[in-house]
Amino acid sequence: MHDVLARLGIESTHSGAAGADGFFTTSGRIQEIHSPGNGELLGRVQLATKEEYEKVVADAADAFLRWRVLPAPKRGEIVRQVGEALRVHKDDLGRLISLEVGKVLSEGLGEVQESIDMADLAVGMSRQLCGRTMHSERPGHRMYEQWHPLGVVGIITAFNFPNAVWAWNAMVAAICGDTMVWKPSLKAPLTAIATHRICDEVFRANGFPGVLGLVIGDDADVGDTMIRDRRMPLISATGSTRMGRHVGQVVAGRLGRSLLELGGNNAVIVHEDADLDLALRGVAFGAVGTAGQRCTSTRRLYVHDSVYDAFLPRLLAAYRTMPIGDPLAEGTLVGPLIDADAVSMFEAAVARAQEEGGELLVGGSAVDRSGFYVQPTVIAANEGMAITREETFAPILYVFRYSDLDQAIAAQNAVDQGLSSAIFTDGFRTSQAFLSHAGSDCGIANVNIGTSGAEIGGAFGGEKDTGGGREAGSDAWKAYMRRQTCTLNYTKELPLAQGVRFDV
Ligand code: NAD
Repeated sequence: MHDVLARLGIESTHSGAAGADGFFTTSGRIQEIHSPGNGELLGRVQLATKEEYEKVVADAADAFLRWRVLPAPKRGEIVRQVGEALRVHKDDLGRLISLEVGKVLSEGLGEVQESIDMADLAVGMSRQLCGRTMHSERPGHRMYEQWHPLGVVGIITAFNFPNAVWAWNAMVAAICGDTMVWKPSLKAPLTAIATHRICDEVFRANGFPGVLGLVIGDDADVGDTMIRDRRMPLISATGSTRMGRHVGQVVAGRLGRSLLELGGNNAVIVHEDADLDLALRGVAFGAVGTAGQRCTSTRRLYVHDSVYDAFLPRLLAAYRTMPIGDPLAEGTLVGPLIDADAVSMFEAAVARAQEEGGELLVGGSAVDRSGFYVQPTVIAANEGMAITREETFAPILYVFRYSDLDQAIAAQNAVDQGLSSAIFTDGFRTSQAFLSHAGSDCGIANVNIGTSGAEIGGAFGGEKDTGGGREAGSDAWKAYMRRQTCTLNYTKELPLAQGVRFDV
């Protein structure tokens, strides 16, 4: 067994459920977890059944009654300690992420740093859960709104950010007074187990077991039970648009709330006045970082006619020399895809792109070595190609030429997804056109920065088929609370609003 797993307290066959008493014996099927980097068996998880799910939710519902009455700044103090615990284990957790999902080590460590940053942000937020006051139309009356804890939040996470996506939700939900049940991806349960163990220990030491729950189980069984569970007023789900469409409909059917963070199909525009050095780095990291497995990965590139011939050869040259290999090895920039299915989807997309008229410029094949490696790929594309409007979770970049900025912006918007977007330009008017209401239609719009690598201080999320959810900073905390409008009368009169009279 790997030293990292042992240090993080992961047993060779680990329980897939944890409630108020910590991890308990589960009885579902056993899932093996192999490293996508070399196929090595990392561990096994015994999945939770519906009955075991029941216990975790009951514990979270029970813990809510105590957690919600702890003052928010005191909840923030416990989240501060969670941030400290993550700092202590950052190196091991980062390595586990690299082993389990194949991202290169600096990205594995960066992901844990993002969770630490979320904890720090949430500590401050815990003193800033502000409501508004407004003037009443009635004399001697006062109106204000306040925010209360919501209840048990269900958190469904995607494989590609097996630690941070949970933290975006959990750190904020915790300071808001909610308890939660986490259903991680079956492709990355070990990181979830380790993360849960580290953070739950802090809550437990502070006398609050049950605030964090964990259930690892099959979608058709545990996942579907969770989204139908009326004890959960909010389901926050991160993953594919296909999954989000289903989750959104089921949760709406019971009039629950969902917070959906779904697929992207993000574009970069390189305008005629772009700093091409910056653009090169921004596009390369956006398209190839995390082997193209970020929701914010750059999938389409629009290059102005006048700089196309200067820019594209440089980009292709960078692609040809990018080190592919062991994600834990020094210097590797491109790790593996998550599994064999992902490699097949990559190959199918490359073949389809060529059938639809695309020209393969670099890459295009799987790499012949153990693990699930593919070559970073660039395809010259045209707007008629339907594949360019889909999200393939792999390092494939479709390149388009344009001569008119408005057309480039319209083309970048002409997909179903609406997550991240970027323009490289030194022109004030150009950048403002891109950021204006007639510009990018995405939840994230950047200038002289690529599409991926968002900071947590802003609200993160996207429009259209990306689901409309917002997480992390700004006022995203409001999704995790219920709003209450209060009107107080400090007179001896009882005037009715809108001048209505009802004298008895
Ligand atoms: P996925 O949709 O296959 O799975 C995501 C999660 O949903 C997993 O935990 C899965 O078990 C769960 N799930 C699936 N069906 C379910 C059901 N019926 N009930 C309950 N849960 C169910 O996605 P993935 O392959 O893990 O992740 C990649 C996708 O996630 C990409 O589309 C990517 O763009 C997206 N993503 C989006 C964001 C964002 O913030 N917008 C962040 C990360 C990943």
